[in-house]
Amino acid sequence: MDTIGAMEKTAENPREILERRAKEAGFDLVGVTSAEPLHEGGERLREWQNSGMAADMGYMQRPVELLSNPKKLQKSARSVVSLSVSYYPGDHPDGPGGKVARYAWGRDYHEVIKERLFELRESLENELGTKIKARAFTDAVPLLERSAAQHAGLGFFGRNSCVINNDIGSYFFIADLIVDLDLEPDEHGTGTCGKCTRCMAACPTGAIKAPGVVDARLCISYLTIENKGGIPRELRPLVGEWAFGCDICQEVCPYNKTKARKTRWPDFDPSNGAGPRLDLEDVLRIRDDEEFERRFAGTPLTRPGRSGILRNCCVVAGNMRHESAVPALVECLFEDESPIVRGHAAWALGEIGGEGEALRGALRSEGEGDVVEEIEFALVR
Ligand code: SF4
Ligand code: SF4
Repeated sequence: MDTIGAMEKTAENPREILERRAKEAGFDLVGVTSAEPLHEGGERLREWQNSGMAADMGYMQRPVELLSNPKKLQKSARSVVSLSVSYYPGDHPDGPGGKVARYAWGRDYHEVIKERLFELRESLENELGTKIKARAFTDAVPLLERSAAQHAGLGFFGRNSCVINNDIGSYFFIADLIVDLDLEPDEHGTGTCGKCTRCMAACPTGAIKAPGVVDARLCISYLTIENKGGIPRELRPLVGEWAFGCDICQEVCPYNKTKARKTRWPDFDPSNGAGPRLDLEDVLRIRDDEEFERRFAGTPLTRPGRSGILRNCCVVAGNMRHESAVPALVECLFEDESPIVRGHAAWALGEIGGEGEALRGALRSEGEGDVVEEIEFALVR
């Protein structure tokens, strides 16, 4: 792996052309590994799947042979180019509202990075004077992207399961270009957490079960983004202020504290997306998908959809005992079409307290068993 910018332009072999072009395309790191199966990562994935820790994430449950073999994604694959781009926008500002994980403050990285990957391929084709068969993706095709990144020398696996780079920490997206070119591979990434266990101690839900092993069923990132159902009641208080994702195990990491590199991509600027915090009262009043799309289209926040984001905002409002959100929560309780939103609004009102009349009124009109149960629980708080 080369930290782009640290190397000198020398002879023009394909590998060096790649590095120069990747730098011009704005990537922070680039490395190469062969397109052979990622056996070690595959084994780790198999264990994780078998343990049930992948929860209901269908795309992570697909056969290991598919997830860990670049040639299953592209038959002619010879090399995997692993690239990274920092999304680090700076510190999370204090203030009211539900927190958004840093990677999601700006535009949706899928679209943004894919555009640049295609540009990179095109520029390589032009310079090498040959057509390149390539598949480009970031967090979209179920290759073990982190394993490929480690093989390509971009970093090592931290105890928080992130790929950590000795020079820029772990606040970066990983993108891959599977190509039919033979490119000189890198040494595998090395580095160590040493005696540090800060992420494991700081995780509010105890989701990091062992070094590098995160139980998605407990992880706030999963619970607030991929999870389509309710957030288990016993975990809601632990979600704290997080309305979308969670950065805690990266925030406490010494590599990020000292080495995080600010993003150079304007697309990830908070002004181009949802920003660092959601206004709870405002979001809790989004009643239809059209309005939700108007507000969040083109950002990662569309992933859990309207009901997922409102569910999360209910939980944050309850945790923060956010009294000014009560009228919006009552509206959710009576008017929202999603039983999940109505149920979580009831829970939040129970946490904040003093809304027995509204809850009893909702109990009389509510027809969904799960929501009724939430209201009953809220009434005895
Ligand atoms: S993202 Fe948050 S909840 Fe998930 S493992 Fe890290 S600290 Fe724990
Ligand atoms: S916080 Fe410490 S243990 Fe966790 S990933 Fe960072 S260096 Fe490793």
